[in-house]
Amino acid sequence: MEFEIPEHLRQIVELIKWFAKEKLRPLGIEYDKKQEPIPPDHPFFKEVKQMGLEIGTIGGGKEDGGTESGRIAERFGIPKDKSTMFATLSIIGAEILAWGDQGVTMSFPGPGLAAPPVRVMGTPEQKKMFFDFFRSSESPAWGAFALTEPGAGSDVARIRTTARKEGKYYILNGEKMYITNGARAEWVVVFATVDPKLGRAGHRAFLVRKGTPGFRVSRIEKKMGLHASETAGLVFEDCKIPEEQLLGGESYYSSKEGFKGAMETFNMTRPAVAAMAIGIARCAYEYTRDYFSENYLLNKVSILSAKIKAELERMKRKLDIARLMCLRAAYLMDMKQPNAKEASQAKAYAPPIALDVITKCLDLLGEEGSLEYHHLVHKAYRDIKVFDIFEGTGQAQRIVISKRLFANKGRPPEWLHS
Ligand SMILES: Cc1cc2nc3c(=O)[nH]c(=O)nc-3n(C[C@H](O)[C@H](O)[C@H](O)COP(=O)(O)OP(=O)(O)OC[C@H]3O[C@@H](n4cnc5c(N)ncnc54)[C@H](O)[C@@H]3O)c2cc1C
Repeated sequence: MEFEIPEHLRQIVELIKWFAKEKLRPLGIEYDKKQEPIPPDHPFFKEVKQMGLEIGTIGGGKEDGGTESGRIAERFGIPKDKSTMFATLSIIGAEILAWGDQGVTMSFPGPGLAAPPVRVMGTPEQKKMFFDFFRSSESPAWGAFALTEPGAGSDVARIRTTARKEGKYYILNGEKMYITNGARAEWVVVFATVDPKLGRAGHRAFLVRKGTPGFRVSRIEKKMGLHASETAGLVFEDCKIPEEQLLGGESYYSSKEGFKGAMETFNMTRPAVAAMAIGIARCAYEYTRDYFSENYLLNKVSILSAKIKAELERMKRKLDIARLMCLRAAYLMDMKQPNAKEASQAKAYAPPIALDVITKCLDLLGEEGSLEYHHLVHKAYRDIKVFDIFEGTGQAQRIVISKRLFANKGRPPEWLHS
């Protein structure tokens, strides 16, 4: 086990740290105060694009330019093999960017959450069209992933957006909600059902282009936190989609494993989301630690000082444990080992710990903690709650984990992963 950031990745990590501190943090504070998403024409997004930090730009396979890790490897001259530790790098990067500002990070241009299903399920032609679009676009462009509906969140089998086949088209009808970057997205991966009675077997995913008649944005949500990020409601009314835009083509869905394969991409994103929660809490923790340190309170021998030091130590320890869980899930992924349980464990563990740490920061600051002066901690407190909700709620993760605890029945447990 190696806990150092490998030499060849340090340059990237340092660049991300600089960007998080100098760019994301001030912008995040500005838009948190404005309580609105950063507009798509903000010059910051051009900078993100120029730096090659768009989210999910690259699809799999040579036909569309290689893998994301391949592209990053090329840009920074690092090995393209297993030793790149791309999943580990993603976890480290996710924490640092969230430490800067997670609302801003979620609004980075690029295909975003639409990339994994296209990469896993798309036909070679669809991948080429989709990823080429983002690569060749001169101005920043966004993608979005639309699964959640008013009546279907954790239980995705309940989606009711319908896809009816008519000649060479599918007709979509239904509503999606809480869609990140949904209003600005040029392409949205929309999940619908050809028959609600079939459950998951009836699900289909479509590539839907902005401006298609029958597709409109119903609203931009007003949220408690993550203000810099846009969260939209989408409506489909007799929206006609050419059959070529059915992701993977009809044959893809005849294999039961097909859809499952796409969902497995979440084994990477769950630890990344957990790492983001750690980043937000680390921002509040460091702020509080420095505040007390700079005010010399901790140098005095007193019960109060001892109590504050003990609380800070506990916070740091919890965050370190949560980070190790994320790194374990990423390490297994880098080693091409199964990591579903470990990914869910990290996701179940980190957000409540992060909320706990941030709450403690406010507690320590006492009545003074309510002053505007400590805005950064307030923002962290409002930003963090959703991390126990999206990408699978805490309860949903615990169900996944507990199922896996019994999956090894009849086989000897391995000491580390049983
Ligand atoms: C800021 C933000 C951005 C988002 N971005 C996207 C996006 O880009 N694309 C997208 O598709 N979705 C997105 N979502 C939606 C998100 O994935 C859902 O909110 C999440 O899946 C939970 O679904 P729900 O809100 O319907 O809650 P529900 O599933 O209705 O859950 C409500 C509560 O019941 C609990 N619960 C549910 N089922 C069980 C069970 N079987 N056992 C025990 N407890 C249970 C849950 O844990 C939760 O506490 C976003 C949400 C937010 C807030």
